[in-house]
Amino acid sequence: MKSSKYISINGEKVAPGKRATIDLPVAKLYTHANLSMPVHVINGKKSGPQLFISGAIHGDEINGVEIIRRLLKLPIMKRIRGGLIAIPIVNVHGFINRSRYLPDRRDLNRSFPGSDHGSLAGRIAQLFIKEIASQCNYGIDLHTAAVDRCNLPHIRANMNDEETAKLAKAFGTPVILAGNFVEGSLRKAMLDLNIPTLLYEAGEALRFDEITIRAGVKGILNVMAELGMFPPSTKKRKRGIIPAQANSNYWVRAPESGILRAFVPLGGSVKKNEVLGVISNPFGEQDIEIISYYDGIILGKTNLPLVHEGEALFHIARFERFEKATAKVDKFQETFQPDTSSILPEEENIIV
Ligand SMILES: [Zn+2]
Repeated sequence: MKSSKYISINGEKVAPGKRATIDLPVAKLYTHANLSMPVHVINGKKSGPQLFISGAIHGDEINGVEIIRRLLKLPIMKRIRGGLIAIPIVNVHGFINRSRYLPDRRDLNRSFPGSDHGSLAGRIAQLFIKEIASQCNYGIDLHTAAVDRCNLPHIRANMNDEETAKLAKAFGTPVILAGNFVEGSLRKAMLDLNIPTLLYEAGEALRFDEITIRAGVKGILNVMAELGMFPPSTKKRKRGIIPAQANSNYWVRAPESGILRAFVPLGGSVKKNEVLGVISNPFGEQDIEIISYYDGIILGKTNLPLVHEGEALFHIARFERFEKATAKVDKFQETFQPDTSSILPEEENIIV
């Protein structure tokens, strides 16, 4: 376990017991304006593990930005052991443009580990690893589904690694995907560096989703508690949901172009041969039924009814014990559903 002495980023040092926001310079705009990746460092007085939390590696995936904002406001952050490095907006260029990509149309999460003489994406990837990730013991990377799609909150992690699996379970989403590693992703780069890293997939691009945000904050707190980053005096947390690990997952695609009417909600459980929705033309002359191949849970779906042939419509996760997994999803949604009688999110409910 690395001790928390000084945390140093781009030559700026944060002493134990201090917190600071550091502007890490990235390629400036062609207007001549400087641009930087804002990084918030909390260095605990006592030693402990060092954890990074990254958001908006895809610049339009903004739920993670709000998750980090709420996390940093919590009073418990004043008493952490070890270090927390929070980077709410890694892809600053994409965030400004409300785009998943960088201005050169490259995907930052396909550009790791990068290099200092490659594309803009490769340079940012390399900077992120050099200045932040490589000095951490653990990481949590926050994502959402792409534009016009929505994901049920779930963790993707290397479940073959005991330590990563333990943290993935602690996070407390109802579903875990053991998942393959995408070449060029931050998670693959962290695997190569032997730094256990979780990927939180939840919600939709360019939208705030209250369940996603609340579950994200709580999940990070659960992981920090599991890592021993809170003082022993912290009141015992209630054991959250023990996630169900999916056996496999698959996408149901549009057999034809048309207008989709979906019949199943995100997180809904579906049976083999159940009708998930229908595709018809604008005149309603013919309905083409979309059928589920297996029992499973809707882990992701399109929110846009206008679909082309071959388009991914429903992402379905399969489980060994399907009924148990369904019960976990129901409990999760009940737990994090905001009180609709209140306009303001109940942020206090998610404090440890
Ligand atoms: Zn993403």
